[in-house]
Amino acid sequence: MGCQIEKAKIDQTIAFHGHRCPGLMIGIRAAEVALQRLGDMKGKDVVAIVETDMCGVDAIQFLTGCTFGKGNLIHKDLGKIAFNFYDRDRNISFRLLFVSDIASDLISELRSLMKENEAEKMTEGDEDWIQRLRNELEERYMAIDLEKMFLVTDPPWPVPKPAKILQSLRCETCGEMTMESRTRRFDGKVLCLPCFEKVEQKI
Ligand SMILES: [Zn+2]
Ligand SMILES: [Zn+2]
Repeated sequence: MGCQIEKAKIDQTIAFHGHRCPGLMIGIRAAEVALQRLGDMKGKDVVAIVETDMCGVDAIQFLTGCTFGKGNLIHKDLGKIAFNFYDRDRNISFRLLFVSDIASDLISELRSLMKENEAEKMTEGDEDWIQRLRNELEERYMAIDLEKMFLVTDPPWPVPKPAKILQSLRCETCGEMTMESRTRRFDGKVLCLPCFEKVEQKI
């Protein structure tokens, strides 16, 4: 079954992200799985760990309410299109891994066109072709069954602990207050990371 999220919500997600793109559609469908399994998550104790920083993460933030600023969206820079969700109250957790095979034909065609682009051999016809392929990808992602789009397993990590409130210390070089876990001690002084990196490089 294709995407069941109402069109107005999808339009709002596109507006939030700033453009429509295949990556965003992957995030919309991943959020759809999370919403099916967990219901409305706003105000609930749900945390997401995303293993990518691609466009789709904006859809996760907008549709599930797990956001970077609230601290219930954690980014692990692993470069995998995978999204983990944890409901701390109900003890439910799962990982959604995007099954890239569902689009490998379109993606390899897009890649070879993009290579021509890098080599500055693009013609106007190629540009239209790229746009058509991207549209086709978006349509495929929105139409496919969720069971085919994501491999669902247990997350590889335990439930993340709630964020602790840490003390701030004043950096003795720039004078800016810095969360204590992000400071270093160097030559008897407390330094923020950028100030530490500056002195450390001199050695
Ligand atoms: Zn995008
Ligand atoms: Zn500093």
